[in-house]
Amino acid sequence: MANPLYDRLFKPHEGQDTPFLILADGSVITHAAFLEMSGWLAAALSSLGLVPGDRVAVHVQKSPEALALYAACIRAGLVFLPLNTAYTPRELDYFVTDSEAALFVCDPGEAEALAEVARGAQAKLLTLDADGTGSLSEAAAVQTSTPPPAARGEDDIAALLYTSGTTGRSKGAMLTHRNLLSNAEALVEAWRFTSDDVLLHALPIFHAHGLFVATNTLLMAGGSLIFLPKFDQDAVIAALPRATTMMGVPTFYTRLLDDPRFTRDLVSHMRLFISGSAPLLAETHIRFEERTGHRILERYGMTETSMNTSNPYEGERRAGTVGFPLPGVEAKVCDPATGAEVAQGEIGVLHVRGPNVFKGYWRMPEKTKAEILEDGFFITGDLARIDGDGYVHIVGRGKDLIISGGYNIYPKEIELFLDAQPGVKESAVVGAPHPDFGETVVAVIVPQDKAAPDLAAIEAAARTELAGFKRPRRYELVDELPRNTMGKVQKADLRARFANTFT
Ligand code: ATP
Ligand code: MG
Repeated sequence: MANPLYDRLFKPHEGQDTPFLILADGSVITHAAFLEMSGWLAAALSSLGLVPGDRVAVHVQKSPEALALYAACIRAGLVFLPLNTAYTPRELDYFVTDSEAALFVCDPGEAEALAEVARGAQAKLLTLDADGTGSLSEAAAVQTSTPPPAARGEDDIAALLYTSGTTGRSKGAMLTHRNLLSNAEALVEAWRFTSDDVLLHALPIFHAHGLFVATNTLLMAGGSLIFLPKFDQDAVIAALPRATTMMGVPTFYTRLLDDPRFTRDLVSHMRLFISGSAPLLAETHIRFEERTGHRILERYGMTETSMNTSNPYEGERRAGTVGFPLPGVEAKVCDPATGAEVAQGEIGVLHVRGPNVFKGYWRMPEKTKAEILEDGFFITGDLARIDGDGYVHIVGRGKDLIISGGYNIYPKEIELFLDAQPGVKESAVVGAPHPDFGETVVAVIVPQDKAAPDLAAIEAAARTELAGFKRPRRYELVDELPRNTMGKVQKADLRARFANTFT
């Protein structure tokens, strides 16, 4: 019986004594041991009466067992639904209820607080601790045989991943076996992963980046992961000498650059550094190359589509761009109002099509219909421009667009201007309601050093470099920008903060 993901990502490793997970203490879990663990977990899940298609909501710390639970769900035909470890019981209530999860696996420490959530959603509740113990592991330990992989088709849902909630309430994206497999194939090829690769994995596994982009790709290539519980600077620096490649969000790279131990020598043996999930500043790309000699390879994707575009492995990795559509993926820039493709080089909303595009939003048929067009193109909601050489530039999100006095203002343009001013480390530009203009521009600036940048000088520069309607009408200095665990700037928070500035 076929099970596309299991057959391609996991089955080939059964019984193989090759290293899969290298833990922080140096111990190694082989592919064989990992698959055995997931086999017993799959048996436990089936013994609970779960049947293919049931959702398994998971709110646990990153651990080998948590990753094995992903493999177990695929094997048992269940829909894996990982949840951000930062979510509170109130937030979890929404996800567990909305997904109608049949099983909710949580940390033992929070089981009491979440019992009510599970009860309300009519989900069974089991526990899994960061050290691998808990009632789920106990259930696995008493199994006497492992079931064969459940039969699944290419269009069956393998995972339900909720989006990060950056622009509004998180939506459940239904990802099929085909979606995940096609992307893993494309990435192994695009980034030249082989069984010799050792990927430094400090990302969370509740998000598409750490779960699919990193793990599925390495499983397909047969390589191993240095599996760190989180991004800890000391641990990452200690682990780099054993790695061949690293994937990270931009804040991983800026933090490494702030560390004097992060030297050219430390990473001279590395093959590749990849960045995504949030925009990598061109300045970071350049500083990284100056320090290490490596050009970070930036790529772009979303929960709904996995990866869409990537800078080339060979060829120019262009700072400030996300490269070209991956093989099998089509991308075009369209007018947000009419949906018609814009002229070459113009800004519009990015539409993508390919085997990577998800099946739809969970229990949101109207939204699915509005965003996945009849011809198969998905409206990403990201604003983009494709330059003359075909490189895609992400200019921001449609929802962050500021409309002032009828003019469109792209925050990224103002942010690039601000970032280039002396004394500015980084910036975020948001719109605030304004009685005359509808909206106007607020600039939030993080100073480079302790000394504040000269705001009068920045305002003067804005007068010569930016059209009047684009100039910020308020400047605010902050120690750091609000970011979530994936390094995404939380512009909705900033907007709320400045909502009453002009009204
Ligand atoms: P929500 O959809 O709930 O508002 P979200 O879009 O942040 O949240 P994700 O699916 O985790 O949830 O993130 C996808 C988004 O991340 C993309 O749509 C894009 O805006 C951004 N992104 C990812 N990679 C890059 C990149 N390399 N450069 C710029 N933006 C990126
Ligand atoms: Mg989104």
